[in-house]
Amino acid sequence: MINHNSLKNINNTPAVNEANHLISATMRKFNIVSSLCAMLLFSECNTAQTMNDHKNNPYYSRTDTTHLNVSNKEWSKILPKDVYNIAREKGTEWAFSGKYYKTDTKGSYYCAVCGNHLFKSDAKFASSCGWPSFYEAIRPNSVLYLEDNSHGMSRTEVECARCNSHLGHIFDDGPAPTYRRFCMNSAVLDFEPDAK
Ligand code: FE
Repeated sequence: MINHNSLKNINNTPAVNEANHLISATMRKFNIVSSLCAMLLFSECNTAQTMNDHKNNPYYSRTDTTHLNVSNKEWSKILPKDVYNIAREKGTEWAFSGKYYKTDTKGSYYCAVCGNHLFKSDAKFASSCGWPSFYEAIRPNSVLYLEDNSHGMSRTEVECARCNSHLGHIFDDGPAPTYRRFCMNSAVLDFEPDAK
């Protein structure tokens, strides 16, 4: 017959307590390592998917900042039609239609034409304009500003500084600290979420 009191005593011995402690600590470490691996895998999957989306674009790079001189004829063979229309023909997507106008996920935005790093989500703000809006670029020299007097308006156009693709316009009605509003087209942006 089992003596429950003796079992209780065995379970409370220092050796058993130590073993339980070691098992708990090992499980905690395993859970942390598993979570980190899952997050790394998720991040790498996102990057891999984005890079796969650009597998036919030999100019796309997240690391090479060399200025590109590529003709529109060449870009037209490489870029999807909607991206080409905005980036190379200065088109504009419909308000409230783009994939990034209301996202607030933490991460980075890159030029969808050449991979140039353009914005961090920290500078993105909820604007009622219907396009993804940022109060500053990630680096002052990641974009270029050009006078745009088309369509009977006087505006400042924003281009990617690496590939000279049209991204959108900048206005003076943004929030602090810059009070600027980079009004961008989602179609010419790639988003990469931060690894958590
Ligand atoms: Fe670019």
